[in-house]
Amino acid sequence: MTVTIDQIRTTLRDRLAHVNGRIAAAATRSGRRPDDVTLIAVSKTAAVEVAAIAFDLGVRDFGESRPQELWKKHTALPAARWHLIGHLQRNKIDKTIPLVSLVHSADSERVLAALSEFGVKRASPVAVLLEVNCSREASKGGFPPESVGQVADAVMSLPGLRLEGLMTMAAYGDDPQTARPTFAELRELRDGLRTRTGLPLPQLSMGMSNDYEIAVEEGATLVRVGSTLFEGLGP
Ligand SMILES: *Cc1c(COP(=O)(O)O)cnc(C)c1O
Repeated sequence: MTVTIDQIRTTLRDRLAHVNGRIAAAATRSGRRPDDVTLIAVSKTAAVEVAAIAFDLGVRDFGESRPQELWKKHTALPAARWHLIGHLQRNKIDKTIPLVSLVHSADSERVLAALSEFGVKRASPVAVLLEVNCSREASKGGFPPESVGQVADAVMSLPGLRLEGLMTMAAYGDDPQTARPTFAELRELRDGLRTRTGLPLPQLSMGMSNDYEIAVEEGATLVRVGSTLFEGLGP
């Protein structure tokens, strides 16, 4: 069965209303304003045409985990804000960073040093989040929580970077409540870093399709939602 453009548009409109409603309710429940949370539509499994419909429906922030896919979608939708949420190889920095508004996945001192060099070269700082492996799964990237203080000190000493906050991925589980301690830990880490660095560190990027409401209750400012929006819409 093929899905027509009209069906995709109707489905996406409904899904966006559903997700935005749940984000707003979770924010209100936890004494925050719905506007404090930005929905990032993770379009990595969606066709360019489907991402374009999402843009048309008002989505302005998109996340991609692979640089090549981000280049392609940015060409089609240059007016959107593009977030890099996956591992960045240093040899792709020059081509990728000019297209990206925030790097969520700074996951090694080596990539931070390379981003710093790039920020200095273009005379405009690169906005980054440190990816933290709160769930301590060997399969996941990111800095161990214990090391984040030292990493932040190192970032402070590097020119050409603007540290905006932290990002994490919770362990996958059937019950989204199991993700709550992970999200609370990221917030506590961020609060500690604020004291340590004196930086405002406004952004907490946490929560995906399965657990974004819990993440908002625990202080997420950026939620990265993919499959709940785009599943089954092609390609
Ligand atoms: C794919 C991905 C997401 C979106 O995941 P869904 O479960 O499809 O919502 C969020 N964050 C990162 C880092 C991802 O790679």
